Amino acid sequence: MTLNFFLICCCVFLYAPYSQASSTKAVHDECLRIGHKLGSVSVHACLQQGLKDSTGRSVNGQSILFKEYPPLLKRRTPQGRILLIGGTHGDEYAAVSIIFRWMKILNRYHSGLFHWHVVPLLNPDGLLQRHSSRLNAHGVDLNRNMPTPFWQQRTTVYWGKTGHDPRRYPGESALSEPESAWLYQEIRDFKPDVIVSVHAPYGVLDFDGPPHGPKTLGALHLHLIGTYPGSLGNSAGVQHRIPVVTVELPYAGIMPSHAQTMKMWTDLIDWLRKNTPKEETRQAYLAFDRIHEDLMAISTEVEKP
Ligand SMILES: [Zn+2]
Repeated sequence: MTLNFFLICCCVFLYAPYSQASSTKAVHDECLRIGHKLGSVSVHACLQQGLKDSTGRSVNGQSILFKEYPPLLKRRTPQGRILLIGGTHGDEYAAVSIIFRWMKILNRYHSGLFHWHVVPLLNPDGLLQRHSSRLNAHGVDLNRNMPTPFWQQRTTVYWGKTGHDPRRYPGESALSEPESAWLYQEIRDFKPDVIVSVHAPYGVLDFDGPPHGPKTLGALHLHLIGTYPGSLGNSAGVQHRIPVVTVELPYAGIMPSHAQTMKMWTDLIDWLRKNTPKEETRQAYLAFDRIHEDLMAISTEVEKP
């Protein structure tokens, strides 16, 4: 055995358990904070989820937790891949809590119909502080930080129209924030057939990308809000042509009823069953890198009138 080979073996052996232990600790610590913050999710319930450390980190170094519901190949080939995201905005508590409720259903009934990646809290720094905030720890609205055409110019104009509302600050550049960069990479790697992102409190359903979104999920009705520079719907849905369902719950601080939570879920599964996969989504991923490069190349350019 050469010395190099010996050293590599030792390092792998020593590193793996350490890495696993620190990752487990990251999940444990964050579940403590989530459980103490959210009225609808106890520490115990969070710990029981079996969430994993994605190794994605927030500005303050907190883990972006996720859970995979993998293909059950002995039973069936999954019909599609679904990415489910909550807590992009840290002050929309219900948009995190409902993901935990839906995970409870998946824990029990995951049948392998879909391959899920579930991210209950994309913005841990925003939620897990004394006064929860829409923004991440750099004061950036993560839903304005995704790459879209002429990002610099268009987000600046848009932000100006809001009167430079700090709650809408798009950041210094597209994907400047670790949370949005992680999400974008997750989309590129996982290649979901549909992205479902949960927000509050507008009480509607929005959809970006081809072909058409669900008309209703529970009591929520489709109402196309339009897109904003730097939003997930604009970036993934309009630019990359990946279907994005945006669920806007009616209240940020009050969970929908149990019946509504269940009905939204069954309506969503029903729609996914009928609308995935689409050949055009597969084609969209073939063009992902090219579109990304184009978007970044023009992100600081000024649009010709
Ligand atoms: Zn939101």
